[in-house]
Amino acid sequence: MKRITVWTEYHNDAKESEKYATQIYGKGGYGELIKAYPEGMGFALADIFKGDKDCTVTVTSVYEKNDGLSEELLSNTDVLIYWAHLMHDKVQDETVERIVRHVNTGMGVILLHSAHHSKLFKRLCGTTCDLTWREAGEYERIWTAAPYHPIAAGVENGFVIPHEEMYGEPFDIPEPETTVFLGWFEGGEVFRSGVTYTRGYGKVFYFQPGHETFPVYKQKEIIRILRNAVNWALPAAHRTETGCPNRKEFLKR
Ligand code: ZN
Repeated sequence: MKRITVWTEYHNDAKESEKYATQIYGKGGYGELIKAYPEGMGFALADIFKGDKDCTVTVTSVYEKNDGLSEELLSNTDVLIYWAHLMHDKVQDETVERIVRHVNTGMGVILLHSAHHSKLFKRLCGTTCDLTWREAGEYERIWTAAPYHPIAAGVENGFVIPHEEMYGEPFDIPEPETTVFLGWFEGGEVFRSGVTYTRGYGKVFYFQPGHETFPVYKQKEIIRILRNAVNWALPAAHRTETGCPNRKEFLKR
């Protein structure tokens, strides 16, 4: 059974989400977002796995206790999917450390779109993760740079996302283990839009598409990529056996 946790900065209740968004954006809040994802971002992402008998999906948000990710929930998560934009600072440092500890022992993590600037991604990368951007709703073409990679399986090379926020190079990340996808934007910029890392025993995938005002996560190619990414990021069977078995003995001395 794959245990997926979807973590976003949207309250599970769309109306509550709108209330918080209004506090940030002022009147109107996430009106456009609500149009693209009336069910809420967390549930829209969870829907990608709807009907999968071998999956359980938990939807949580930064508004809940422990920033929505308790030790217990993380212990019962195989792959964490994270979408975030404006509430990066709301996430406590200890929450980030808790997640990192689980990544190091094998939990997979998929960071989406503006999660590039989250505390978690910066912590995993050790760099600023800065990039250039422009919000103009341009089209983006996604090229497969690593066709042999499991995340690229069955994905059409060069498919188009009709409207997306432009993210461009330079992208201040460490050299990826694999650059699976490259994005090319209507305005001419290019971006390493799908990159992988390993941290400890855990697999990390950052995927750029998914600006909240466009229904990107309803597009079939994107759905395919995210499903592939979950299967790729599943922990190895030895997740709970990490760490030096002699450590306790050494500490006793
Ligand atoms: Zn965005």
